Amino acid sequence: MPAEYLFAPPDVPAVAVTGESRLFPVRRIFCVGRNYAAHAAEMGVEADREAPFYFTKSAHAICPTGATIPYPAGTRDCHHEMELVVALGRGGAELAEAEAMALVFGYACGIDLTRRDLQAVAKDRRRPRDLGKDFDNAAVIAPITPAARFGVIGEQRIWLDRNGARVQEARLSDMIWPVPAIIAHLSRFYRLAAGDLIYTGTPAGVGPVGPGGALEGGIDGLAPVRLQIAPAG
Ligand code: MN
Repeated sequence: MPAEYLFAPPDVPAVAVTGESRLFPVRRIFCVGRNYAAHAAEMGVEADREAPFYFTKSAHAICPTGATIPYPAGTRDCHHEMELVVALGRGGAELAEAEAMALVFGYACGIDLTRRDLQAVAKDRRRPRDLGKDFDNAAVIAPITPAARFGVIGEQRIWLDRNGARVQEARLSDMIWPVPAIIAHLSRFYRLAAGDLIYTGTPAGVGPVGPGGALEGGIDGLAPVRLQIAPAG
């Protein structure tokens, strides 16, 4: 007999897949901090080259590309962070880098929305980052492109336009921790599984997006990600 619930279970957060009618169901969302040296510098810190570090977002923070969202609650400084998102189609633990890419289902353009003012308070007071990073619509994502269609990660450009002006631009090869290293390292701390997403960090040029603002980001070979913030009032 199937389980009965007190109320309808929440919807399964999911992401569209290019060339495929079925959706990618989301399990966990991992995010890498400071994975581009120029972004670490603009945040006033040096990138830690000993090991990557992470924070997480709820799977229910997923926001599909093309959405118009209200300005996020509780902040006066909502920032955009354009990122490559890695979508896992298989799981594993304690993986070597040579095994890591076998887990990858595909890639997508994503925006890690950040309440920078709340993140700054958390940093100053040595509190958890959740209020700054994990909130409604904070994990914006475009359709996933299967890995075989994308090819090998290398010199692809990654960029973001805010209100029509280019503000972020780099190459995926600028990442301090490449994707196989991130997956292998994460797998020492979590049993990874199909449905996990990894936001791999943002290049320099992060900044505020206000009410009425528009974001459009791209990575060579992937579907673009777009977000509109509703006007004030
Ligand atoms: Mn980020």
